[in-house]
Amino acid sequence: MESHERRGLMPRKVRHISLFDKESVLKRLWESTIQNERGCRLWTGAISNGFGVVRLKRFGPKFYVHRLSAYIYHGLNIDNRQEQANHRDELCENRNCWAPEHLKIGSHLSNIQDAVLNKTHFTPKAKR
Ligand SMILES: [Zn+2]
Repeated sequence: MESHERRGLMPRKVRHISLFDKESVLKRLWESTIQNERGCRLWTGAISNGFGVVRLKRFGPKFYVHRLSAYIYHGLNIDNRQEQANHRDELCENRNCWAPEHLKIGSHLSNIQDAVLNKTHFTPKAKR
């Protein structure tokens, strides 16, 4: 189940992303987003493991919303699973948030180290 879901969310070859211009991706994201007083952009669409997911095209692959945001605003290489979009825990603990100020790019390794350091590894969070 895990591997199946992961394959669905993060296809090995995501050539599709180049078919979408960033403006139209952002437009789609804002259609299902509410903001809170802390500047979060909270995804109100589909959620997986607490993270927002979106299909940019009917029957197309699903993308993590926060990864799309990091791709658009921070230049994340969305095809590279070693490059991660992490939430800045000190600013935001909403996994479904895609505010660019609340995200940073990290490697998989630093992600784990941060998580252990802050003891946030696999801590369940409220979805909204
Ligand atoms: Zn946030």
